[in-house]
Amino acid sequence: MSPVIINNGNRLVKKNPLMKLYAKKILLGSQWASHKTVIIENGIITDIIDGKAAEAEMAQGAVIPGMVNCHSHAFQRAFAGFSEQGSEGQDSFWTWRAIMYKFLDQLTDADAEVIATQLYIEMLKMGYTRVAEFHYLHHDINGATYPQLAQMAQAIFNAANNSGIGLTLLPVLYRYAGFGKQAPNDGQKRFINSTEQFNQLVTDCVALSKDYTNSNVGIAPHSLRAVDKDSLLAAVNHIRVFDKKAPIHIHISEQQKEVTDCLAHYGKRPVEWLLENAELDQHWCLIHATHINQQERQGIIKSGAIAGICPTTEANLGDGIFPTTEFLQEQGTFAIGSDSHISVNPIEELRWLEYAQRLIKQQRAILADQQQLSVGQNLWQRAAQGGAQSTHSNTGELAVGKQADLVVLDEKLTRLFAHSDQHILDSLLFASQQNPVQDVMVNGVWVIKDCQHSLQQASYDKFTRLLAKLSA
Ligand SMILES: [Zn+2]
Repeated sequence: MSPVIINNGNRLVKKNPLMKLYAKKILLGSQWASHKTVIIENGIITDIIDGKAAEAEMAQGAVIPGMVNCHSHAFQRAFAGFSEQGSEGQDSFWTWRAIMYKFLDQLTDADAEVIATQLYIEMLKMGYTRVAEFHYLHHDINGATYPQLAQMAQAIFNAANNSGIGLTLLPVLYRYAGFGKQAPNDGQKRFINSTEQFNQLVTDCVALSKDYTNSNVGIAPHSLRAVDKDSLLAAVNHIRVFDKKAPIHIHISEQQKEVTDCLAHYGKRPVEWLLENAELDQHWCLIHATHINQQERQGIIKSGAIAGICPTTEANLGDGIFPTTEFLQEQGTFAIGSDSHISVNPIEELRWLEYAQRLIKQQRAILADQQQLSVGQNLWQRAAQGGAQSTHSNTGELAVGKQADLVVLDEKLTRLFAHSDQHILDSLLFASQQNPVQDVMVNGVWVIKDCQHSLQQASYDKFTRLLAKLSA
């Protein structure tokens, strides 16, 4: 099946060919700098000069790099908060998943675009400038393939384009209900592809992405329980034909049950098996590598792969806690994701990344190091850079040659807490009670100004109508 590109007439965002942005305070690499003008040409930072250049626009507060969200299932935003009524320890990840499947019985591709547009606007307003969409809702409500395999994927491209967020689309290979090629259940019928059909979907998505600015495509074998070795390797080989550096993400050891089942089937723990059977490198991102032992932790670091951590979802689903202290001490690379969107806020993700470690270790200020004593700054920088690596995108820090993906903080709010530069991101992470994000630029284009997005009211109206329909 050849890819068909449906023209929505609104694909290419107009970029300012030349923009000058003056910042009184700006985080350049790992250093705060004062009184700089950032020169941006066609979305790329081409120079950073001292002082205020003529005709430069003035940033109204401190400027920091935008955050990358390494793990999103957009449609799950529509039922965030719907499954918080368990009792007596009976509710779990698996009961949450049953609610998710029920919800999917009614969702159309048009609905998916409405939900993703609302979600991506929310992400931008909180400081995320790029998202990796782990996209596994492929087929029609009855499980039949759409006339064009990438129809659902196109809803995601459209949503990213409408909102202005950068997109890394990761079509998901989902084949089985469990280890040992268990037949998929009815709730999974919209996710399932043969390996051949999946590879065609990836081909179509790569073709589609050429038509959307600031987007790229990788793949996501769903998990070791949902793919077998042959299909995993076939999918990896296929994407590598297009792009040797395309991101490859996988859910790996989110739940203890997953580890137990993997041991029963393969005689290996999930990360242990993956390290032995796939050639991991810096383009792999292991989502929820929660339950790992020391050898697995060191194996991930040695391979160069990224740990994709989703602290609020992992807490919400009762998954467990990733060994972040040891992983960072050993120079592991991590990124953060909002996953189920129980929270859409990078500040909260990073705050809980640190707090979980404090609660376990009964210590304070843990996720910092000799080079960067500020926990807030260390986590923001490393998560942004790890996120950029996890999406193979030219973002994650503000420097010449990088894409202009940046956040301007509300100066009035930061002044309430931070008296000096080195406290700005600590205050942001641990003490801010309101959203401090005032303006957001993606790829050289302002998408949030004065906390507002140009489509927010229209999106709100469509989304709330849809939610009422889906909840009826
Ligand atoms: Zn996930």
